[in-house]
Amino acid sequence: MKIFITILIFCTAIYANITNYKPIKACVELNSNLYYAIRSFDINNKLYYLVVNPDRIKTYIVNINKTTQIKCPTTPNNYTILRDFNNPKHPLQNDGITTPKNGIFLTTDLCPSSKKGFERRLYESLIKNFKNPVPVTLFITKRWILKHRQEFIQLKTWQKEGKLDITWGNHTAKHIYHPKLPLKENFVLSKEENMQSDILELEKYLLKNGVVPSVFFRFPGLVSNKKVAKKVKELGLITIGSNAWLAKGQMPKNGSIILVHGNKNEPKGVDIFLKLIYNHKINSLKSIKDLNYQKIK
Ligand SMILES: [Zn+2]
Repeated sequence: MKIFITILIFCTAIYANITNYKPIKACVELNSNLYYAIRSFDINNKLYYLVVNPDRIKTYIVNINKTTQIKCPTTPNNYTILRDFNNPKHPLQNDGITTPKNGIFLTTDLCPSSKKGFERRLYESLIKNFKNPVPVTLFITKRWILKHRQEFIQLKTWQKEGKLDITWGNHTAKHIYHPKLPLKENFVLSKEENMQSDILELEKYLLKNGVVPSVFFRFPGLVSNKKVAKKVKELGLITIGSNAWLAKGQMPKNGSIILVHGNKNEPKGVDIFLKLIYNHKINSLKSIKDLNYQKIK
């Protein structure tokens, strides 16, 4: 136990010193495999990359000395196709990937909230009812973490204990929202939004807290336009919408991305989800890391 704690403190201390965090576009070889490098940063004067595996969409941090820069392939692969996947009409709401061909994917949004605590019942019920570790995507914000330190630590603990397989999705650091403005001037379409810094700030904050950010992104309020969708893609991220926002009455089926809120802002969606589990309507969940372009309608 003592050794475990020492390693943990050591890691946190290392991560706390991240500097020069910036987006890059490169391909590298590591252990004879191709990865896309999307960020570079320094930790104690050593250079690191955040890289993505193009088949199973998983991210890693690697010391650049362990990699060799190579030419990016010209043929598309799972990662590049998913990254470039947008609704050509760029609707004001729900752009990005909404309908996988099969499997049920659970996403739980952690938007900023003044509510104390979080939907502990939701995560505990996942752990109790499905084979561990249970795949779940958290679309998290820095503002939620700042007000919910203990809950954030609990989520990381469940992951460390092998109970949850968390994909740490980006929901922006600030998640700007104006209660009285129309959608087209709201969320990331607000005047004061700076998409790039809002996205990178969340990633840096996760890294400083010992969490590797994924490349999955969800627009706050699911609201976007062509310009911001392009920006997300440029930053190497994959936009995830939803076809089963439970609190809005959209029921999941095989081929659904479920949206519920883990921050207590929408208990109705969690009530419905728990009822579906109780009635054996959902028997297994898939990890968003296993999304495959061949399996999107
Ligand atoms: Zn949100």
